Amino acid sequence: MPKKVLLAEPRGFCAGVEMAIKALTWMVRVFEPPVYCYHQIVHNQWVVKAFEQVGVVFVENIDEVPEGAPVMLSAHGSSPEVVQGAGERAGVVIDAVCPLVTKVHHEVKRMAAQDFDIIYVGHEGHDEATGTVAVAPGAISLVQPEIGLAGFDPADSTKVALLAQTTLGLHEWQAVLEQAGQQYPDLWTARKSDLCYATTNRQEAVQQLADRADLILVVGSENSSNTQALVRVAEETGTAAYRIDAAGDIHPEWLTGARIVGLTAGASAPDHLVQEVIDRINPSDGFELFRVTDEEEYFPLPRQLRGFLTALQAAVEGGFTARKPGQPGLLENDRDWTATEALQLVWP
Ligand code: SF4
Repeated sequence: MPKKVLLAEPRGFCAGVEMAIKALTWMVRVFEPPVYCYHQIVHNQWVVKAFEQVGVVFVENIDEVPEGAPVMLSAHGSSPEVVQGAGERAGVVIDAVCPLVTKVHHEVKRMAAQDFDIIYVGHEGHDEATGTVAVAPGAISLVQPEIGLAGFDPADSTKVALLAQTTLGLHEWQAVLEQAGQQYPDLWTARKSDLCYATTNRQEAVQQLADRADLILVVGSENSSNTQALVRVAEETGTAAYRIDAAGDIHPEWLTGARIVGLTAGASAPDHLVQEVIDRINPSDGFELFRVTDEEEYFPLPRQLRGFLTALQAAVEGGFTARKPGQPGLLENDRDWTATEALQLVWP
């Protein structure tokens, strides 16, 4: 039986996921179901199921949204066509894209406007990569980190830019950066990498954790890119690492001979699932926090949602009959309200 669980800090929900979950919670409390959401709001099967239970319908094609229905666009960012299509057919559109993904979209637009050929390091088929490539499809080439630059052929080798999906493994992104830097000495990259703070902090924590642990468990769903990156970062150290959605996925033989278990969670995994994993492991000496840094990031609710809720609140206070949007003060005190509390309102 394991002696101890070392619990990574930071782990789990990032500021973008916090914002997106709280925003969708507002949607289901303000509108009668169904509320539509283009793509999974975040890549976690428990969160998706919780919202489905209260009437959210997740769609892969914006044309599936009925005319006039309320729709939210996911945290991973949507293509300009999807944003436009949603605006044309939906009654209310709230875009819950993470601001750090929006920043990459701006970089793509800016470099494409200057006639750069853009290397975009990302995973084909991932929602974020699909949305970002669609911002300037004629100027951007999706380069998978495991394949590298084979096949990339810029029109002008002095005008090449390198951008990335926010949730890659740092070592994978660095390998492509190195290759691109050697081939294109004038390479343009963002001052800091496009990998977001949450991705890099969680990877730093799991890397250090893997040096101390006999086994690493990463809570998160299969389609969560940053979760998969955490597993790969841990494996790079030589420590056995497994992704699990929940405690029930643990194979008992993984724990055989593992005295110290390192535990972390991807940026879209709810923390109660992590607590359930500790209970399932039941370490003889309990668990200990393994903190590498503090996170203070906070992203406000989407601008359209704030405007909509403010107008609704004014109508309620003006004596109109409208449904009460959640607990009083939540909008004003959004910083003090967590996505975990929001999920408890949705699916207690
Ligand atoms: S992982 Fe990073 S880019 Fe993705 S939602 Fe979280 S903060 Fe935003």
